[in-house]
Amino acid sequence: MPIVEKSLVTVDRTEHLEIEGIDVSGDWNSFLRSRVQVDLDVRVLDWVRSQPQGDTISRCWQCGTCTAGCCLHTDYGLTDFNPRYFIYLAQVGYEEELRKYSSTIWRCVSCNKCVERCPKGVKVEEVVHTIGSYLEATGGAPESPADRFDRAYTENLLRRGILDEADLFRTYERGEGRTMPAREMLRMGLTLLRSGRLRTGPLAHRTRGWRRFGAVLRAKLEEDERRRRESAGAVARAGGGPR
Ligand code: SF4
Ligand code: SF4
Repeated sequence: MPIVEKSLVTVDRTEHLEIEGIDVSGDWNSFLRSRVQVDLDVRVLDWVRSQPQGDTISRCWQCGTCTAGCCLHTDYGLTDFNPRYFIYLAQVGYEEELRKYSSTIWRCVSCNKCVERCPKGVKVEEVVHTIGSYLEATGGAPESPADRFDRAYTENLLRRGILDEADLFRTYERGEGRTMPAREMLRMGLTLLRSGRLRTGPLAHRTRGWRRFGAVLRAKLEEDERRRRESAGAVARAGGGPR
């Protein structure tokens, strides 16, 4: 029987073979395309699967429902952010390609729409973060402005338990070697003033009882960092990481 609904066939054909009206090229349905994988490298997949939050990665059948509903990809037009593609690259072990997204992958805002929509029960949000952790743990990715902003943000927050926005932007801009245009600075200053958050430096607000809580939080972050480094060492010993 010939294929009548041609609009469903969207993959780029390189060859076409029809016998008695039946398409036998084997590439008419993109779901079936990657049946044969000759250079499969399961190290990333094994690592992600071995993590408590990554164990559902193998259920993914690449339908793309998660990406279609992802707010970053769809609503904010961040086409580089594609959870289905991250999972695919991790599944087949295309680590070099995956590393191009070392920074982008952390943009996930944990809205969990992908998890709600996934027909296979993949905990997409957790899997995406676990893939990100793999990339981070095995290194090889240059620090991005987003990473530097995250660091400045965390440090700022840890100081008093409440964000000192003016100081954050001052520190971050200085670190990037930039100076905010006067007009922009004025606009931001007025916004902070109106919202009652212009108190900065020693005058900035402080969360009550923060000294103890902040110390616990800092210790926890340092512990996470230590584990991350250990994990990186384990992956490197197992032959993972950038090649
Ligand atoms: S929705 Fe689920 S099965 Fe479909 S691509 Fe995303 S993770 Fe994979
Ligand atoms: S949790 Fe992350 S990956 Fe999932 S839909 Fe939200 S932003 Fe996209």
